[in-house]
Amino acid sequence: MVFVRAWGCPLSCPWCDEPLHRDPKARQWLTRADILTAVVQAAPGLFNVVLTGGEPLALPNLSGLVALFKQNGYWVAMESSGQGGPLPDPPVDWLTLSPKNPLPESLYQAASEIKYILGADSGSPALILEQAARHPNVWVQPRAQGDTPDPRAVARCLDLTLQAKGRLRLSLQTHKYIGAR
Ligand code: SF4
Repeated sequence: MVFVRAWGCPLSCPWCDEPLHRDPKARQWLTRADILTAVVQAAPGLFNVVLTGGEPLALPNLSGLVALFKQNGYWVAMESSGQGGPLPDPPVDWLTLSPKNPLPESLYQAASEIKYILGADSGSPALILEQAARHPNVWVQPRAQGDTPDPRAVARCLDLTLQAKGRLRLSLQTHKYIGAR
């Protein structure tokens, strides 16, 4: 996968582990063609791209970017909080929705998977279980402290996963457990 990170996000989650999207010095203005060229140069012959951020829905003309990748044979995934703008048309091939606030039902229905972040003392287990009972692909991910896993959050996620009896999956940011980034 090649990751394309949108600069900026309308939300300010205290646990956000992508500080670059707030750093003015990290911001680059690129045309859609520039982005495609950068992806081709980063991984020639690899046709899987993930649009993430920051918040990709806040990109101007996200639909045009998705269309350009698809015209060039790419499989396009996107990870989004669901806030910042409408879903692209054409749709992406895989939508990971990571809600931070309640969202319209249509967004949950459009999601290929839904991922909730649960901290040691934050997040709503009841809401996650409720969504897991309705959607076939729901994940819970422990909130880390920066790049360091939080054992209390991991334990809470494990408990919840067991409670859900197969309706909920555990997502671990493996790179944070093996010291890679
Ligand atoms: S929605 Fe995602 S990118 Fe935006 S502030 Fe929250 S964690 Fe960071």
